[in-house]
Amino acid sequence: MTQVKTPAEIAAMRQSGKITASIVQLLKERVEPGMSTMDLALLAAAEIKAYGVEAPFLGYMGYPDVILISLNDEVVHGIPRADRVINDGDIVKLDFGVKYQGMITDHAITTIVGKPRQKRHQQLVERTLTALEAGIMAVHDRARTGDIGAAVQAELERWNYGVVRDLVGHGVGHSVHEDPDIPNYGRAGSGPWLKAGMTIAIEPMATLGDHRVYVADDEWTYLTQDGSMAAHFEHTVLITQEGVEVLTAL
Ligand code: MG
Repeated sequence: MTQVKTPAEIAAMRQSGKITASIVQLLKERVEPGMSTMDLALLAAAEIKAYGVEAPFLGYMGYPDVILISLNDEVVHGIPRADRVINDGDIVKLDFGVKYQGMITDHAITTIVGKPRQKRHQQLVERTLTALEAGIMAVHDRARTGDIGAAVQAELERWNYGVVRDLVGHGVGHSVHEDPDIPNYGRAGSGPWLKAGMTIAIEPMATLGDHRVYVADDEWTYLTQDGSMAAHFEHTVLITQEGVEVLTAL
């Protein structure tokens, strides 16, 4: 399947992206101390139903839910649970997507619930978002994946953050994960070429420690090996002749 989307597919992805962003925004507004990660997931599932869209993460490689929710030292791919309660000061990562008219968009944010426990937690969140923005700025017709990785890495390493390497951004649209990989590190001028009409997910993952992660016994959740806090942001973007268009924006 070609990586370049048709105008009709792009139109569907624009709509898909707006719905994805709206639902994530709603969850961000609703999350509060005392809720479980399952409470949030049920809210996401209800929104999917209300919008009449599909949940591309549900059943993907056997994944059991519509959303991935990761707390604190969990980097990504946390499975919602009724017994996982969100506390004041927790760093909450929401990774969510919808499928609309066959087209998938993928989006993630990090938010701190209530009062941050440490100033550096808030900084980690803000700077990881800045790194995503730097990655997006590097996107244009005939850019290469290494241009994005280098931009993200430079932004995160300014602060000595760990840049997670075991997980990467990716092409997205017909499937949750398509070619090419979009690493959050690398050299400018290296890697596969991008061109107008392609849709990719850029998703920096940063830690207050080093870059190493491991997978929990549930076989999904990635945690930092050193127990340090982690943040994650993700946008699905369209590469255009003029540059880039963020699809998972409100
Ligand atoms: Mg993704």
